[in-house]
Amino acid sequence: MKRVVTSGDLTQRAMRPAELLDAYLAHAQADILRFDLMLGGLERPCPACSGHGAPEFMRFGFSYQRCTACGSLFVSPVPREERLARYHAEGAAERFRREQLLPMTADVRARHALGPRARWVLSAAASRLGRSPTLAQFGAETPPLLDLLRASASVVQWPADVTADGADARVDGVIAFDVLERAADFSRALHRCRRALHPRGLLFVTTMSGGGFDVRMLGPRTAALVPPVHLQLLSRAGWLAALAREGATLVEYSTPGELDVQAVADACRRDPGLRLPPILDELVRHEDEQVGRAFQELLQQACLSSHVQLIAEAGPDAPIPR
Ligand SMILES: [Zn+2]
Repeated sequence: MKRVVTSGDLTQRAMRPAELLDAYLAHAQADILRFDLMLGGLERPCPACSGHGAPEFMRFGFSYQRCTACGSLFVSPVPREERLARYHAEGAAERFRREQLLPMTADVRARHALGPRARWVLSAAASRLGRSPTLAQFGAETPPLLDLLRASASVVQWPADVTADGADARVDGVIAFDVLERAADFSRALHRCRRALHPRGLLFVTTMSGGGFDVRMLGPRTAALVPPVHLQLLSRAGWLAALAREGATLVEYSTPGELDVQAVADACRRDPGLRLPPILDELVRHEDEQVGRAFQELLQQACLSSHVQLIAEAGPDAPIPR
């Protein structure tokens, strides 16, 4: 199976400036209270495989559970959809992210996230879908990404809410970047993606993994983990189980993240009480930056970074109606 490994110069400081991230997280915690996200939440089993969840840690009042069957990490109780919709549409955190965090990191995101993602999609589409594929993107509209994709493919933008109706045309490829982890009903969202695909169509996903290095090391101290946004962080086994339910197969799974080691080193600097196993502590804080980069590359090789990108192929038959 193809695996993407990068060797970049991305820094945590450039992608997630601490003062902006701290302000965003403060807004998120205020919005969680403002929209009563903790009220009336629904208990659930693992959204990937329906396995049993064992409590792992709490963050911002949300309980993250680890599936004892597939290792996925998920929030349960999960907030109600209508409250989540208000959080995303009306909240100060999401507005801050759209109006400040993203614009101030736009250059680095274009170079390290959007550009590589567009090249990845177009290259896989060219080799597997043939000439002039039709693609649809779910999630927040990202004009720079759409511009890059539209150079070589026909791309339509579909609703930000991946479970919403209103986009029933079939396409060759569905792009779901950083959206499936935020769906309160994950299996409905995944089914929605599958329903939009022609037989043998491709689903392109980027998301966060609960099995990635920084999440495993830092748990509730993972700065990039925001509970109302990250409701499920599937493991590779979780993806296999969830895709099998849709008659889809995993054709590529990579974790080309560049920031796990830096994120853990930063957390250690900010919180002297944080203790890692001594040899990992030595590796992440090593004075030779090349050691940190080599360690990050090893995580990518072993698919143990928390930034996941995957491609799933729909089966030859029409999706099972629900
Ligand atoms: Zn599971």
